[in-house]
Amino acid sequence: MVSLQVEKLEKFFPPNVYALRDVSVSIRDGEFLVVLGPSGSGKTTFIRCIAGLETPTKGRILFGDVPVVDVERGVNVPPAKRNVGMVFQNWALYPHMKVFDNIAFPLKIKKLPRREVEKRVREVAEALGISDLLSRYPRQLSGGQQQRVAIARALVKEPQVLLMDEPFSNLDARLRISAREFVKSLQRRLGITTILVTHDQHDAYALADRLMIINNGVVQQIGTTDEVLNNPANVFVAQFFGDPPINLVEGEGRGDHVDLGDLKIPVQAPQGRLQVGIRPTDIYVADRPLNPGDIELAPGRIVLVEYLGFTPVAVVRWERTEIRAAMYNKLREGDTARVFLRKEGVKLFRDGVRV
Ligand code: ATP
Repeated sequence: MVSLQVEKLEKFFPPNVYALRDVSVSIRDGEFLVVLGPSGSGKTTFIRCIAGLETPTKGRILFGDVPVVDVERGVNVPPAKRNVGMVFQNWALYPHMKVFDNIAFPLKIKKLPRREVEKRVREVAEALGISDLLSRYPRQLSGGQQQRVAIARALVKEPQVLLMDEPFSNLDARLRISAREFVKSLQRRLGITTILVTHDQHDAYALADRLMIINNGVVQQIGTTDEVLNNPANVFVAQFFGDPPINLVEGEGRGDHVDLGDLKIPVQAPQGRLQVGIRPTDIYVADRPLNPGDIELAPGRIVLVEYLGFTPVAVVRWERTEIRAAMYNKLREGDTARVFLRKEGVKLFRDGVRV
């Protein structure tokens, strides 16, 4: 296994797309990094640069202390020599080959002896629980099984780094959950340095040791899921990561509170125009405070009760301000509600950046 160092990586697609701008991240040996961002943010380009399938226009990538790319020095190790395993979004299995041959393919390219190939394929198939599928064709497999074959093929050459590009996007919601669990435990067991790219925050939440959030080719934040959730660097991150989505309202900072016009949020706040972010888990409708430090806001009116998963969320309105709040009582639409706030959960932003 190996650590990974990405330094000031840039990828420019002429005439005018910067798919990556000044991306730097170091990934520890055995770490699971999830790269999360919306469509077109540069995720695939990032992982392809690491695999060697794309050549960056600036920057360096090191595996351990060995540069595989150094644009300035003209270093660019070809993909086959980088010792990475890659799982693609569509799994890219060869339809005319049986599972065994699909998995064996990277070893055959390396011209390993037949007995060695046989041994390694059987070992990896065993580890992935697909030993009894080796003589089937991909079309005879379920989505989850095909995915395991794609992972087996990526792992069979015992790569130093495992790269996965949206590996769950072809799975239905239930399979996705079990596939995530499977990938996580496999990664833990093998201790392989892994980068997984996704636009689905639930993948990120379930899998990441650390998370790199990217938008328009620019890294927005790198941190553990807790850090990113509790301390989002900016409004983009706050809105992109967290379920249910964060409430974001405009207000005026007044020292010991933020004035939303029709509602005061009693937290320390610098003077001036601010955006206030409060997750629906940090503000709630209840008959009494749930925690000693929580404070009561002015009562609001429930205009709608929604269900996000199995959790009821109330849309509470004051005069103008509307906030989604977790709901711990049985009030209904039209009722006036007591509303409580977990103060530490309030996040303030100015011009999109955390203050
Ligand atoms: P998605 O989640 O939709 O796959 P992504 O985050 O993986 O998106 P990329 O595929 O890395 O994003 O693309 C980043 C940007 O680079 C996009 O604006 C895309 O149009 C552009 N791009 C990617 N590949 C090329 C290319 N070969 N030529 C020109 N532009 C490209």
